[in-house]
Amino acid sequence: MPHKTAPSFPQYGGCQCGALRYQLSRPPLAIWACHCNQCRKQSGGAFGMSASVAVETLHFIAGAPAIWPRQTDAGHFTDCLFCARCGTRIAHRRREHGGRMALKPGTLDDTSWVVPERHVFTDTALDWVTPLIPIEPAP
Ligand SMILES: [Zn+2]
Ligand SMILES: [Zn+2]
Repeated sequence: MPHKTAPSFPQYGGCQCGALRYQLSRPPLAIWACHCNQCRKQSGGAFGMSASVAVETLHFIAGAPAIWPRQTDAGHFTDCLFCARCGTRIAHRRREHGGRMALKPGTLDDTSWVVPERHVFTDTALDWVTPLIPIEPAP
């Protein structure tokens, strides 16, 4: 499914309590939904969503994120950026991927254009979610 284009940039977003606000100056490079157990745990929902953005296009304009460094099963370190007051996760920044970070796109003020282009870790998707996942076209 192709993702829609946002009405205009910059777009704005923030955490649930409003202490953290950010500006996204350019469209994401990709948007995906992840059905792994870690994304489910982190989001508290059925799956997680990520928007890959260039690091220089995401600016905090109110507050500064707290950082929880998490080591993945593969041994990589991901800095998880969140609001220290309300706990909303804003982004993940893998240390060896310096140029990009994964914005949690549900934190955007306007989410009408946020459509995942692909689904990953679908083998661990919840049963009721599976019918919603588009079948990959044959290569
Ligand atoms: Zn907050
Ligand atoms: Zn995941």
